Amino acid sequence: MTKNTPYPHMLAPLHLKSFALKNRIIMGAMHTRLEQMPDGSARLAAFYAERARGGVGLIITGGHAPNEAGQLEPNGPILSDVSQLEDHEIVTKAVHKAGGRIALQILHAGRYGATLDIVAPCALRAPISPLTPRALETDEVEQTIKHFANCALLAQKAGYDGVEIMGSEGYLINQFTALRTNKRKDAWGGSTDNRQRFPVEIVKAIRAATGENFALIYRLSALELVPDGATGEEVITLAKKIEQAGADIISTGIGWHEARIPTIAYMVPRGAWSFAARRIKQAVSIPVVGANRLNTPETVEELLADESCDLAYLARPLLADPDFVNKAALHQRDEINVCIACNQACLDFIFKGRAATCLVNPRAGFEDELQIVPTKNPKRIAVIGGGAAGMAAASIAGARGHHVTLYETGDRLGGQLLLARNVPGKQEFDELLRYFNKQLAKGNVDVKTGVAVDAAWLQKQGFDELIIATGVTPRRIEIEGIEHSSLVPYPQILSGEKQAGERVAIIGAGGIGFDVADFLSSTTEDNEKPIDSFFKEWGVDTGLQSAGGLRTGSPTASPRHITLLQRTPGKAGRSLGFTTGWALMRGLKQRGVQILTGVEYKKIDNEGLHITLNGKKMTLPVDTLIICAGQQSVTTLHEDLQALGLSPHIIGGAAKASELDALRAISQGYRLALKL
Ligand code: NAP
Ligand code: SF4
Repeated sequence: MTKNTPYPHMLAPLHLKSFALKNRIIMGAMHTRLEQMPDGSARLAAFYAERARGGVGLIITGGHAPNEAGQLEPNGPILSDVSQLEDHEIVTKAVHKAGGRIALQILHAGRYGATLDIVAPCALRAPISPLTPRALETDEVEQTIKHFANCALLAQKAGYDGVEIMGSEGYLINQFTALRTNKRKDAWGGSTDNRQRFPVEIVKAIRAATGENFALIYRLSALELVPDGATGEEVITLAKKIEQAGADIISTGIGWHEARIPTIAYMVPRGAWSFAARRIKQAVSIPVVGANRLNTPETVEELLADESCDLAYLARPLLADPDFVNKAALHQRDEINVCIACNQACLDFIFKGRAATCLVNPRAGFEDELQIVPTKNPKRIAVIGGGAAGMAAASIAGARGHHVTLYETGDRLGGQLLLARNVPGKQEFDELLRYFNKQLAKGNVDVKTGVAVDAAWLQKQGFDELIIATGVTPRRIEIEGIEHSSLVPYPQILSGEKQAGERVAIIGAGGIGFDVADFLSSTTEDNEKPIDSFFKEWGVDTGLQSAGGLRTGSPTASPRHITLLQRTPGKAGRSLGFTTGWALMRGLKQRGVQILTGVEYKKIDNEGLHITLNGKKMTLPVDTLIICAGQQSVTTLHEDLQALGLSPHIIGGAAKASELDALRAISQGYRLALKL
């Protein structure tokens, strides 16, 4: 390593008993659902091999159950029999051929499973599951330990370089270690020692089965964030026992799935959980892996340099950019496609039963299908509209060697992303804007901002292809008094062009309505770091004195009285992301934002917003009324071009306003540009 090595801690090798890791980045386990697809092994092999070529030190697969009772769902990933080895060998061979290392994660879902016969230490239903598990008999506990060892042995036969035992996030092992879920009266429950016996015996059994020359990683629950979860002292006791039992590495997990504190979503500050890894690192002598919201090389480098951990666990950031490590090593930080922690195309897709991909990288999971192949027939292409869809289309077309001009009427590229970046936690969109700008420059795209083009002019230019990405405009709604002076369009609020008063009503509780409520209700006290205000708001005991690391949260109340309204009766927030919406809504509730559903809007005047709620007339006194009632496509240019007999492509919000979101916009732009 030379003096000029960027990120020297992150790029330093690490020697294990069985092999050397070429750097400190571990691709963390992530269930992709490719495992369950008919062509899953081939797609997984391509997916992991691309990340191995991208320079990652070690890859950990998504969780595989050691027996049927441990499966996450019927047909979920499992490794319990030699007949399953062939599929795994396709993956391990591909990764090794690409110069990488790969370990299999063994995950027993316990009461988080969704199969017919789910088991746990006790028959206690998880608050996030409709299913009550059956309590394991004592001999079944012993049998399950053998199944873990058998799974590890099979993994070794399949060519994996090691295994990771999933002991965190609230799965079976965690259900044994925590008082919350373990009320057993036999040798596997009661005292801390008894509750921790299950993971210790698993580690010993795997080590005995696989020998010394096989990496054994234990994912330890460093901070549980649930009532009656482990205390700080119990966490350290277990870490020491795991080391003694023969683990090579301790990776850290934060929060059970049933925890009501966000741990990886965009509102969690980068590197927030390093304190939990540091406590473990100080107590053991084997390497410790830090995890969650580590999405840039500088965040990782900082944690390694201050000795919070020895390695970093990155899962989503390697979906976003398989070449994360190589780019960092080659001084190309500005080319890294950074994960923005939106969860939209990875976790939210998985919960919807779809294979994981990535909002900022539509190629994730489609490595073989979506190849950026140089064109043999360079065309002159005009892209009109510099939002997410237009930037994606222009940059990929440019990368393929087309001659692309991108026209944007605003003075900057970004469209809706320029507004979204102002929402708390969504500053991560700046990374996406930086990435696109860099890719446009690399693809020699001629970017013209502050330029409005019309159909006749475009026709005269004789472009070979026209791509319309003119986006959306806020939907106008009809209510008596809609021209009242209290009314401010949401773009002017999010851009900071106009300030809201003390009493605010927001019409429309879709994604944008919630974001505007979040924007207007969030404050940080003077001199308080965002990370401290996050812990304070959500009630995280960073000293880990209390069980689960919980304390009473003390969120800063909203500086404004905010009411968010929708006409549809019932629960608000149904359109929000599955894995982020609950946290957004909880945050608003904690700050005192009021949500009214089943509302009928009557009129707006100097007294405020007049509504009917459950048949009762009422008036909300407001200083500022913000309309977030959805969007309409801007299609004039498209129609004008068609009227001239041209056949332009149309993508993003201009094609379908109801699904104006960056996920669809980027994917459409990307895929279209691959076909031209
Ligand atoms: P949206 O999600 O469609 O929400 C529009 C809201 O306006 C709805 O709550 C609707 O509720 C209300 N509305 C519709 N027509 C109305 C009318 N004529 N009068 C009064 N109210 C009306 O649209 P959006 O908020 O603009 O979001 C657009 C897209 O961006 C969505 O795909 C969204 O998922 C995405 N996005 C998501 C997030 C996030 O998940 N955090 C953030 C930003 C954007 P009622 O009809 O019940 O009144
Ligand atoms: Fe990250 Fe969002 Fe991509 Fe998931 S979809 S990997 S959270 S950028």
